[in-house]
Amino acid sequence: MKKDIHFTKLAPFREMFRQGIPVICYHKVGRKPLRTKLRGIYVTRNFFRQQMRELQQGGFRTVTLDECAMTTTPPDDGKKVVLTFDDGSVTALKNAGPIMAGAGFTAINYLVADLMGGFNAWDVVHGEVPDRLMDEAQVRDWMAAGHEIGAHTRTHPRLSKISHAQAREEIFGSKKILEDRFGIPIHHFCYPYGDLSPSVRDLVAEAGYATAVTTQWGVHEPGGDPFLIPRLGARAYSFNFRNVFRRLLGRPLE
Ligand SMILES: [Zn+2]
Repeated sequence: MKKDIHFTKLAPFREMFRQGIPVICYHKVGRKPLRTKLRGIYVTRNFFRQQMRELQQGGFRTVTLDECAMTTTPPDDGKKVVLTFDDGSVTALKNAGPIMAGAGFTAINYLVADLMGGFNAWDVVHGEVPDRLMDEAQVRDWMAAGHEIGAHTRTHPRLSKISHAQAREEIFGSKKILEDRFGIPIHHFCYPYGDLSPSVRDLVAEAGYATAVTTQWGVHEPGGDPFLIPRLGARAYSFNFRNVFRRLLGRPLE
């Protein structure tokens, strides 16, 4: 994420959340496997619970991406938030699900259409620990709990690095697979790795999605491009020297 400032605690973000709607990005909720190379994409259950509790006590309510994209004025109360999960990890359902239910929150999970019920093959080829992805029945459980699903391509490629025809198939194909499988319209898309180009963005619009989220840092301001929605990565802060000083100065931690 640009600036590399993650969503850890609410206080430093209060003012920013009045400029636009924050879209928070999670991947996996639970204990990090010892061998993982992607430590940043795990948050523990306790940390997730703390964040949900803080949002809840702060009077926040979760809104859908449709509502987020349709908002035309700055959210004067600064108390709307969108919760997103990338990749369809089972941990979102099993670990984050009950915590969100307790807080009265809902989220969207972006599924890799060809890999439901499988593993994070795009990471495993680089030596990453396998992480189980929700199968069809688990996706139905996810939706039955009031959550949404979106598309995250068919195989999780870097869309700007493959041919236009392949990118088209990843973007259009994942929408169709999920719509056929679950019998609902799929309106929301997430670029793998936040990787995109102007032509990739245009393909997403052409495919009939209503929104697409990126890994650009920021909040979704009124009038912002619905196909380039920024997000804030959620991460437990690390106690390095820089963060200790930032904390003393009341600035967002890195
Ligand atoms: Zn992903």
